[in-house]
Amino acid sequence: MAIEWISGSLKARNVWSDGLFTLTVHCPGVACFEPGQFLQVGMQLHEKHLHRPYSVASPHGEDLEFFIIRVDGGELTPRLWDLQIGQRIDVSSKATGSFTLSHTPVAKNLWLLATGTGLAPYIAMLREEKIWDTYQRIILVHGVRYLTDLAYTDELDEHQEAHGGRLVFVPVISRALAIHGFQGRITQALESGKLEELAGVEMCPETSAVMMCGNPQMLDDVEALLNARGMRKHKRNEPGHYVVERYW
Ligand SMILES: Cc1cc2nc3c(=O)[nH]c(=O)nc-3n(C[C@H](O)[C@H](O)[C@H](O)COP(=O)(O)OP(=O)(O)OC[C@H]3O[C@@H](n4cnc5c(N)ncnc54)[C@H](O)[C@@H]3O)c2cc1C
Repeated sequence: MAIEWISGSLKARNVWSDGLFTLTVHCPGVACFEPGQFLQVGMQLHEKHLHRPYSVASPHGEDLEFFIIRVDGGELTPRLWDLQIGQRIDVSSKATGSFTLSHTPVAKNLWLLATGTGLAPYIAMLREEKIWDTYQRIILVHGVRYLTDLAYTDELDEHQEAHGGRLVFVPVISRALAIHGFQGRITQALESGKLEELAGVEMCPETSAVMMCGNPQMLDDVEALLNARGMRKHKRNEPGHYVVERYW
């Protein structure tokens, strides 16, 4: 089905580190969506419309945020990186995707695992009440290469303050010394037991729901570790424990 485009304009551009940025696009008219869903974002390039899917990093509204990494040699992201305030950017009128709280099992604790820009859907979810009304404790694990790739940390601090410590944030840094959190990869943190130690809760079928988003290698490796713990992928007709969003 042909995508219906809304012609938006770039309202703000926030650079977290070289090549890692958030675009705020003014695009009134996008149909209501649930945090965790994604939109197509793109631009007309000569004869073709160049677009890619992006998780929306903000809840529904007239201004939408997209948390993006510039992929070296990528077709679209170097162009998105070069956009200036006020320039046109197209956004699809309807979001899709089932990486949402409605499609995630209810449990005592919710684990949110992300690598890189896989953080985007969780930023949108944390800004709405549903996640706080449903889960007692939320453990957000963000895997990045360098400390400077940790985005949205001030906002996460604010959530922690507002919710009396119900949000535990564990940064996982692979290529530099981690002052807080874990140095290495999410899978190593999980396998070694250190992740649960830092979070102060177990990741187990009885108490946990897990969402994971980002790099496909991390997703495959974590899925295998969760399966070994007796946790299963959650399906509509077959309730389980975890849900997955693949970026590539
Ligand atoms: C459901 C969904 C949601 C997505 N949400 C986001 C998002 O919120 N933020 C975001 O930055 N990307 C997101 N992506 C990826 C995005 O759609 C593009 O693939 C990416 O921005 C690269 O586009 P490009 O045209 O520059 O690269 P292309 O020329 O299309 O090259 C694609 C290659 O880029 C690499 N790549 C793709 N995404 C990433 C990434 N995030 N980090 C590192 N390498 C990557 C992979 O090797 C991939 O094969 C999402 C993808 C899906 C399927």
